Amino acid sequence: MTRSITILGATGSIGRSTAEVVLEQRDACRVEAVVGGSDAKALAGTARRLGARFAALADERFGSELRSALSGSGIACGAGDLAVIEAVDRETDVVVAAISGTAGLRPTHAALKPGRRIALANKESLVCAGGAFMADARRVGAEIVPVDSEHNALDQALAAGRIEEVVVATVTATGGPFRTWSRERIAAATPGEAGKHPVWSMGSKINIDSATLMNKGLELVEAHHLFGLDPDRLDILVHPQAIVHGLVQWCDGALTAGLAPPDMKIPIANALRHRHRLRLGRPRLDLAAISTLTFERADEVRFPCLALARAALRAGGASPTILNAANEVAVAAFMAGNIGFYGISDIVERTCSAFGTRPLRTPATVEEALAVDEEARHAARALVPYRKAAAP
Ligand code: NAD
Ligand code: MG
Repeated sequence: MTRSITILGATGSIGRSTAEVVLEQRDACRVEAVVGGSDAKALAGTARRLGARFAALADERFGSELRSALSGSGIACGAGDLAVIEAVDRETDVVVAAISGTAGLRPTHAALKPGRRIALANKESLVCAGGAFMADARRVGAEIVPVDSEHNALDQALAAGRIEEVVVATVTATGGPFRTWSRERIAAATPGEAGKHPVWSMGSKINIDSATLMNKGLELVEAHHLFGLDPDRLDILVHPQAIVHGLVQWCDGALTAGLAPPDMKIPIANALRHRHRLRLGRPRLDLAAISTLTFERADEVRFPCLALARAALRAGGASPTILNAANEVAVAAFMAGNIGFYGISDIVERTCSAFGTRPLRTPATVEEALAVDEEARHAARALVPYRKAAAP
C-alpha cells in the first residue's frame, strides 16, 4: 500500500536521508508536502525530486524565490508560519518531524492528527514539552514512532516484553569527537573540531550536542517520555563502533539489543512503516569483519552536560525545558565564537541554578512549555559574555 508522507525539515540531514529512502521506495511512499527553514533553492529542488504536491518555507523573506524556483512544476507553495501549518494540515499518513531545535515544536505539535503517525526525529520537542506533547498525541490518537537511532532500536527491542518487566533501557553514545581527549584539550576545542562527528553526518546543532554529550542527556529525557520509563530505569553506555544502538535488560536477566549499521536511513525506514519492514537492500552486517564491539562508562567530569541533563530529568517539572532552552542559546553562542567549549555547560548550569531556587511545575500545555522556554532563553542570553551574532 502506498503511504503518503510529509517531511518537516526536508532540506536537513534527516530530511535528505528521508528523501533518499522515499526515492528508493517509490512504490511504497508518495510525498504530500515538504517544509524547510530558509533555503528556497534546496527546498524547491527537494520538492521537484520527490514530486511533492506542496512546499512551505518557514522564512517568509524567501517566499518569492521559492515561487520562482517552482514555477512550471505544478507544485503549490507558500512561505511563513501559515504556509507551514497548511503543509502540516494536508491529508497524509506519516509526518517525518525533522526540524532542528525547539523551532520544531509548534509544527510537530500541529501535525498530531487522529490516526496519523509522527516519525519523530526532533528530540527537542519532547525535551521542551514532553509531558504535554505525549498527552496530546494520546488524546488525539496520533502514533509517535522514534527516528532517533537509539530510540528506534529501543522501540524494536521493547517489543520483546512488557514495559513493567524492564529493569533498565540503555541508549548508546559514540562518545563524540572528544571521547579520548583530555579536559584541557577539550577546553580549547573550536567549533570546527566539535562539529566533526566520528561516525554520523548530521546537522550542526546536534553535532555540537554530540561533542558535549548533551545529545545523550536529551535522549534520556526523550526516552523517558517515549517509553514512560522513570530516570532510574534509563542509562547510557559509550560504544564507539555505533552498531548496538539500544539495549533492554529484562527482569529475568535477559537482554534484547537493537543493532544496525550506523545509517539513519535504517531507523527512518523503520519509523515510516513501523512494525513492517521496507526492503532497503542493505548488505548484511558483517560482525566478523567488525570483530570487536566495546563499551565504556561516560565520563561526566569531562562532559558535564550529561550530569546536568540527568539532574534535570530527575528534578522533573520544567527543568528539562529550561535545560534545553539554555543549551540552544549556549550552543549558538559557541558556534558564533562567543564562548569556549565549557562555556556551554557553564551557561546551562547557571541558567538551571537560577531557576532551581523556584522550581517550576511541569508545563501542562505546549504553549506553557514555550513560555518557560522563552524565559529560560532570556536568562541564558544574559550569561553570554558578548554577542557577535544574534542568539536563537
Ligand atoms: P539539520 O540542521 O541538518 O536540518 C534542520 C532542518 O530544519 C532543515 O531542513 C532546516 O531548513 C529546517 N528548519 C530549521 N529551522 C526551521 C524552522 N524554524 N521552521 C521550519 N524548518 C526549519 O538538522 P538534522 O541533523 O537533520 O536534525 C533534525 C532533528 O533530528 C534534530 O532535532 C536532531 O536532534 C534530530 N536528529 C538528527 C539526527 C541526525 O543524524 N542528523 C539523528 C537523530 C536525531
Ligand atoms: Mg541519537
